[in-house]
Amino acid sequence: MSRKYLVAGNWKMNSSREEARALMAELLEAYQDPDMAAHCDLLVCPPYPYLASVIEQRADQDVMGVGGQDCSAHSKGAFTGEVSAQMLADIGCQYVIVGHSERRSYWSESSDLVREKFERVQASGMVPILCVGETQAERASGQTEARVLEQLEAVLSRVGVHAFARAVIAYEPVWAIGTGLNATPQQAQEVHSLIRRRIREESVEVADAVTVLYGGSVKADNAYGLFEQPDIDGALVGGASLKANDFLRIARACVELKAEG
Ligand code: PEP
Repeated sequence: MSRKYLVAGNWKMNSSREEARALMAELLEAYQDPDMAAHCDLLVCPPYPYLASVIEQRADQDVMGVGGQDCSAHSKGAFTGEVSAQMLADIGCQYVIVGHSERRSYWSESSDLVREKFERVQASGMVPILCVGETQAERASGQTEARVLEQLEAVLSRVGVHAFARAVIAYEPVWAIGTGLNATPQQAQEVHSLIRRRIREESVEVADAVTVLYGGSVKADNAYGLFEQPDIDGALVGGASLKANDFLRIARACVELKAEG
């Protein structure tokens, strides 16, 4: 089964309003290329304050997705500083990242909390991007599979496999995020295949359709090798998503691969 590539940019806590506007303008222009639009979905996840203006800028060019980097596990109420999934849906977001390793580690988010966020995102009609991944110590001690499966299972066992028909999974080894280190295509493929096999135990149809992204220091020069792998459907990109040219070169690797058949 052929899945369409998705290249998603997580801008994290970067950019000014003007930088966000300029970056989005360049991406929208490049996306006029019909080959790009045919073979690769693009998604940007700007900081909350710039979401609405980026969505307005996209206007009727409903070709690029816009998503939140996180959301509250609560639906509404006295939760100062929180942003609900419903609010993100209300302004036009289509995706929300949940369980990013920075949230899991700096804010001590548990797998159970991540699952609650996942459910809120879907209840609001959007697509959650569920991040999973092991630390360097876990990899070194041979616990990669157990860690990734534990994070996946915390959601899968509670929401059921069919919820994954409307979700994206991002495998992001923590040791590769923002470090310049990255998993080799083979290391990444092993974990992507593990994730897809686990989903396949529940539903072949969902396993064949679900988009599984790789994240961790993806750049133009390593994207192609990663995207060649049978279970890697694109990337969640941090640092290299802040420059239009770098981000677009990653997306063009998908186009090249599709062109080669
Ligand atoms: C990320 O934060 O999801 C990420 C993959 O970052 P980077 O590409 O900078 O490693």
